[in-house]
Amino acid sequence: MSSVDIVEIEKIQEETPTIRSLFFEWGKKFKAGQFVMIWIPGVDEVPMAISKEDFDFITVKKRGDATETLHEMEPGQKIGVRGPYGNGYDIKREKILIVTGGCGGASLMEAVHFAEDKDIEVVTCLGAKTEEELLFRDRFSDMTELRVATDDGSAGHHGFVTDLAKKVICEEDIDLVLTCGPEIMMKKVFEICVARDIQIQASLERYMKCGIGICDSCTIDGKQVCLDGPVFTGDELKEMDEFGKFERTKEGRLVEL
Ligand SMILES: Cc1cc2nc3c(=O)[nH]c(=O)nc-3n(C[C@H](O)[C@H](O)[C@H](O)COP(=O)(O)OP(=O)(O)OC[C@H]3O[C@@H](n4cnc5c(N)ncnc54)[C@H](O)[C@@H]3O)c2cc1C
Repeated sequence: MSSVDIVEIEKIQEETPTIRSLFFEWGKKFKAGQFVMIWIPGVDEVPMAISKEDFDFITVKKRGDATETLHEMEPGQKIGVRGPYGNGYDIKREKILIVTGGCGGASLMEAVHFAEDKDIEVVTCLGAKTEEELLFRDRFSDMTELRVATDDGSAGHHGFVTDLAKKVICEEDIDLVLTCGPEIMMKKVFEICVARDIQIQASLERYMKCGIGICDSCTIDGKQVCLDGPVFTGDELKEMDEFGKFERTKEGRLVEL
């Protein structure tokens, strides 16, 4: 198991009313779509996607104790970083469609940086409940061709981001779809891709304790999200009965999504 590196928070960027990014100097190499375990002293250790710009950074949506504490922290305070873990996205020279909503952009930002470096064309469909919850709107619009959808119609298409994704998939020559966000959204994107025979890679979230395959709490249909994922291909998703339907609680009970 990798050791925990203690890092100091250098700066904080409020991204939306419920999502913020914490920047720190970590310096380890990682691949787009991999994750790290973030230790919040005295609170918990939780999985988070990792990205890099001037500093390494994580982007955190407020949910429970750990993420709320990360939302209260300030520059100068310290957290632990363990990893990187997981497989990451497998990106080749293709025309890529990114479909994301909620906090999913946290996992995909590094894929966008990679594609920009390699001159790979990327279209992004970005969704949120409201305009102010659109994560990384400026970053996606600077580096990719951006389409926006909001549930309340406050920006872009009034409706689901999957409506936009379907249109792009039907009208453009997309070779690969990358998706991360609410699982119901990813399931719809998966079904569109299967119907059109388009490659898809989806980054799944499951409750995770160790990040290294010991506790098995992140298991989904016999696969461990921490070791076998978090990114799964369309062929792997086809074999998962729980995908888009069930998740496990902290106690390991299977409950409907
Ligand atoms: C590989 C991976 C990468 C992730 N990357 C990010 C990221 O970049 N940014 C981000 O904000 N979050 C990310 N998450 C989710 C994040 O780890 C959880 O939101 C966090 O652990 C919640 O901890 P908490 O103590 O704040 O909330 P808790 O009190 O533990 O939980 C609050 C609610 O969130 C649900 N929850 C807890 N953990 C998870 C989980 N792993 N997946 C889905 N639901 C969960 C619980 O069921 C509960 O309903 C990632 C998860 C995984 C598995």
